[in-house]
Amino acid sequence: ASGYSLLRDPHHNKGLAFSEKERDAHYLRGLLPPTIVSHEIQVKKMMHNIRQYQVPLQKYMAMMDLQEMNERLFYKLLIDNVEELLPVVYTPTVGEACQKYGSIFRRPQGLFISLKEKGRIREVLKNWPERNIQVIVVTDGERILGLGDLGCQGMGIPVGKLSLYTALGGVRPSACLPVTIDVGTNNEKLLNDEFYIGLRQRRATGQDYAELLHEFMCAVKQNYGERVLIQFEDFANHNAFDLLAKYGTTHLVFNDDIQGTASVVLAGLIAAQKLVGGSLADHRYLFLGAGEAGTGIAELIALEISKQTNVPLDLARQNIWLVDSKGLIVSSRKETLQHFKKPWAHEHGPLQNLVDVVKAIRPTVLIGTSGVGRTFTKEVVEAMASLNEKPIILALSNPTSQSECTAQEAYRWSEGRAIFASGSPFAPVEYEGKVFVPGQANNAYIFPGFGLGLIMSGAIRVHDNMLLAASEALAAEVTQENFDKGLIYPPFSNIRMISANIAASVAAKAYELGLATRLPQPVDLVKFAESCMYSPAYRNYR
Ligand code: NAP
Ligand code: MN
Repeated sequence: ASGYSLLRDPHHNKGLAFSEKERDAHYLRGLLPPTIVSHEIQVKKMMHNIRQYQVPLQKYMAMMDLQEMNERLFYKLLIDNVEELLPVVYTPTVGEACQKYGSIFRRPQGLFISLKEKGRIREVLKNWPERNIQVIVVTDGERILGLGDLGCQGMGIPVGKLSLYTALGGVRPSACLPVTIDVGTNNEKLLNDEFYIGLRQRRATGQDYAELLHEFMCAVKQNYGERVLIQFEDFANHNAFDLLAKYGTTHLVFNDDIQGTASVVLAGLIAAQKLVGGSLADHRYLFLGAGEAGTGIAELIALEISKQTNVPLDLARQNIWLVDSKGLIVSSRKETLQHFKKPWAHEHGPLQNLVDVVKAIRPTVLIGTSGVGRTFTKEVVEAMASLNEKPIILALSNPTSQSECTAQEAYRWSEGRAIFASGSPFAPVEYEGKVFVPGQANNAYIFPGFGLGLIMSGAIRVHDNMLLAASEALAAEVTQENFDKGLIYPPFSNIRMISANIAASVAAKAYELGLATRLPQPVDLVKFAESCMYSPAYRNYR
């Protein structure tokens, strides 16, 4: 290939880092200015450039441009500056990017499979340049973060998630495939937006929807085999639970909104026991929001409690209460409840208002998963603080605008006693001379390592016990120093090592359960995980 095209190939381009020898051997003379710089200097320069932008979306676009120009520089930048850049390539900025995806769209970064492609999905998959795919993240765009239906513009989510699979979990970029399934959108604003990039029709449902999804799932397995991981992302809950149940027995599927969230939040709760003393079974849990996140977390907590204390799952569920848009979920509502809410319909009179629910249920843990911002009001937080010496308050709704309360509010209204974490990042807060660092219950702690564990063991199915193993592995990474700052999650700076440990725990479970196909089992799974991880270091071209 010519030097000119080498410079335009993001997988091989090194920019000014091409050596003298490489410049000679690959017809690059004259195409680059004479200076040669190191990978480190390139990172430094890019970070300098990105920090010049005041607007987060501009930082996002600069990162996307870099990914298309020089992949290894993009990943080195992300890995070396993970705490600073995570909010740029992922929540909250990715949310804004999706909202404006139509007008910032430049080049496709993943596969778009719309109703137009029905009957031809296998051909469409063949248009993707890579054959050896290990992870697919797929969305249908119906519930992007807490932002609702963004249709085809949801593509930003699979793209962002997969860049984290690589940066944080070490999955090779070429093994990652972002997919958006476009069955239309019910978002009127987008349907009338002249820059909208998706199908201009209302969402297909029922059989039309199910058939397209089924064709996709079959085509993926036929093309990439049984061990390809399919991560469902940001589907509306009326499809998400059913898809997971339907394909969980035939495919390696994982729903990050249900299972990944559950695992990450459970990890934080396990870690929090070190701060409050006691065990998970000692708590009463209240959720605002009974969708994918809420019921997913609730179910995994119950499972862990039932494992720890040897009580039946049903009994473990009794200390967990959920509120949806119609109020507290109680047994008198059972008939009309969606199936995923039914296990949580306990005996109690009806209650609407969250403050009243808090006062009646007297929870020790309050978790926000409704996607509605500002719902943990002063009254709610004060009620939690009056009931508990150390109330655990998790405001998980994303992006930042939808957070149930801010970190500052949680600490101020609880007089500095809350154990707080949120879905979107908040800056440290000073309250009466003490600095509190709010932890981020970010799914990015779990899914990259979880996926790596599945891939490296050749797992063919996901099992709930793997999620518990991942939670325990993450909780074990929180140090005393972290606890002292009020953190129930470790800092992201060590995330690759954390991911390797999670991967090893997940793989160990896969072997134990007989779901692993990579045989024989490696002796040291942590070392093996590390050895599997992609490094963004430049290669030498002879
Ligand atoms: P979902 O499946 O649509 O569930 C939303 C739930 O909230 C539903 O049960 C809904 O009630 C309820 N709800 C809506 N408005 C409400 C209100 N005003 N009062 C009380 N309940 C209300 O969505 P999801 O996937 O669970 O996600 C919810 C939020 O969690 C999103 O903002 C998402 O970004 C966030 N999240 C955060 C993390 C994380 O921090 N790691 C992970 C995943 C998700 P009905 O059932 O009655 O409609
Ligand atoms: Mn999601």
